[in-house]
Amino acid sequence: MRFEVTILGNGSGSPTGTMHHTAHVLNVREQFFLIDCGEGTRSRMVRMGISPLKIKAVFISHIHGDHLFGLMPLISSLGLAGKQTPLKIFGPAELRKMLDFFQHDFGPPVGFELDFTPVDTTKHLRIFENRSMEVWSVPLRHRVPSSGYVFIESGNGRGGCGYAEHALADAPAAHALQLKHNFYPRSYAFMSDTHPSPRAADIVREACPAGVDLMYHESTFAEAEKRLAKNTGHSTAMQAARIAQKAGAKKLLIGHFSSRYKDLSLLENEARTIFPETFIAAEGETFSVSRIPVL
Ligand SMILES: [Zn+2]
Ligand SMILES: [Zn+2]
Repeated sequence: MRFEVTILGNGSGSPTGTMHHTAHVLNVREQFFLIDCGEGTRSRMVRMGISPLKIKAVFISHIHGDHLFGLMPLISSLGLAGKQTPLKIFGPAELRKMLDFFQHDFGPPVGFELDFTPVDTTKHLRIFENRSMEVWSVPLRHRVPSSGYVFIESGNGRGGCGYAEHALADAPAAHALQLKHNFYPRSYAFMSDTHPSPRAADIVREACPAGVDLMYHESTFAEAEKRLAKNTGHSTAMQAARIAQKAGAKKLLIGHFSSRYKDLSLLENEARTIFPETFIAAEGETFSVSRIPVL
């Protein structure tokens, strides 16, 4: 019963020959969720052996090209692949214009419904829920409205315990209540482009009182570029580490690196001085969270 994140891109706005734009695939018990969709996401998914048809919902953090320019090719290829069921898309309200254009005015019909739900980037709200997972928005501090997302495995909610593995399949609802072994719900916080926000850290801590298992936090710059981080609405690796610490995260992934850094261990090492459990969100790597039984 997996709960894992695959990193498709860890670069920031400026393209480089080696780093791709932001996109993460979260697999929660074989349900796939795409978080941000930078340019090249579709081809990156295919290369990683993840079928775009498996994507159940897409969550976009903000309206900057490096987080959503991959959306149109993805939608287009889903149409070609014969998708007929609606694709759920969540993101700032401004995204609707782009989706409407593509659905109605671009040219060939998409072939399936783009089921868009606007996310209020100023509020912490539950925006999605099904039997496997619930998703909460987290207001961030960027140059444009930006939202992070916290993904929490469903069971019986926050800080409680999960359902038995055998009961998670598509069994009737009554069946799902027959618990055998309980597990703590696993969680993932995606903190997209933002200047460090103590409020966002508090929100994550509140959403995951036992500590979020995995936090991704953008770390565009090293500490020497702290002023630049402030002026551009981004974070340094050390600032990301402080947010992870304040949120009570168990593990931190850093990404969205400026193209100026040829050796990313500089950022990793800076973050580790504050939060030792920091790791580079390396492209192509998958980070898993194992289940811990409630004794
Ligand atoms: Zn960005
Ligand atoms: Zn941005």
